[in-house]
Amino acid sequence: MYQVISAPAPHVIVRSRKDFTYWAAGATECVPRLLVNPYNGCTHRCFFCYARALPGYFADFEEDGCVTVFEGLEKNIGEGLRGLETVYPIQLSPATDPFQSVNEKYALTEKIIAEAVAQSVLVDVISKGRYSDDAIRLMARQKGCIGQVTMLTPREELRQQLMQGAATTEELFENVRRLRSAGVFTIVRIDPVIPGITDDLDDLRGMIKDASAAGAQHVIVSAMRIPYRMKERIFRDLSALGVDGKYARELYADWYDGSVHPKWDYRKPLFDELSAEAKRRGLTFALCREFVKEEGRLVGLNGRYCTAESCEGEKINVVESQGQRVSESEIQ
Ligand code: SF4
Repeated sequence: MYQVISAPAPHVIVRSRKDFTYWAAGATECVPRLLVNPYNGCTHRCFFCYARALPGYFADFEEDGCVTVFEGLEKNIGEGLRGLETVYPIQLSPATDPFQSVNEKYALTEKIIAEAVAQSVLVDVISKGRYSDDAIRLMARQKGCIGQVTMLTPREELRQQLMQGAATTEELFENVRRLRSAGVFTIVRIDPVIPGITDDLDDLRGMIKDASAAGAQHVIVSAMRIPYRMKERIFRDLSALGVDGKYARELYADWYDGSVHPKWDYRKPLFDELSAEAKRRGLTFALCREFVKEEGRLVGLNGRYCTAESCEGEKINVVESQGQRVSESEIQ
């Protein structure tokens, strides 16, 4: 049994025995990454959070609201990186927010970035929270680090209905300005667009325009998918947020990747409009894990929509042979 610590949010400390998970492209179009979740569970509590369907400590959080903090994780990562011959960028974090409130107490995010940067390894951070000054300062030291700011809507009141924590809309745009002015490659993720709730095209176009003015260089978009195990709960949440139940059930009809996705008839005009807006504003564009079934085959959509070197905007560097940087990655 672990002792529950109540502030800044209920959490337990677990002595970490892990480092990172290697993520290969596989059936997806993703660039390879070393995935790191310094925490399991996320107090931002987005209603659609895909991690809520995960097992282990994630399931514990779903049950009791207690975040797991992995003490000493940064040291394991430092050691793990030293033992690799080919080092892909570290992604912080695929299934939890690196800047949720417990990070203010433990700063695992900053410690992990520091370990990575000390070994010339790129860090690719994704957050709906407020980037700390220390994190930005560390990322700025390593050329090629990526700062991703996820924003769903320009309407602050609506944002608050979709999640419990996270940064305000103003703080998110401020993240974009701070990252860019520090020289960090800056991405705005509209990930996901939520049908019937955040899919007003004027809002989304305006957000891309404002993100560009704030310094964003690349946009990533997805439409909300629903993991199979979360389907009924998400439909109930959508209905509570005012989305007609019949509309939602008819819209969600494309099954792949263990999830149900909005029909292609819905996604295509959305992606067409947003990619055109990104182009108008001088930003490169990509989708995240979006596919369409054609003649019984799953076809990745970045082949059609991505206007950058990779889905994350830049040619992704890897480190080979203990520290010798190669700029032409085999990932392309
Ligand atoms: S910020 Fe990310 S990890 Fe946290 S609840 Fe929202 S979707 Fe999940």
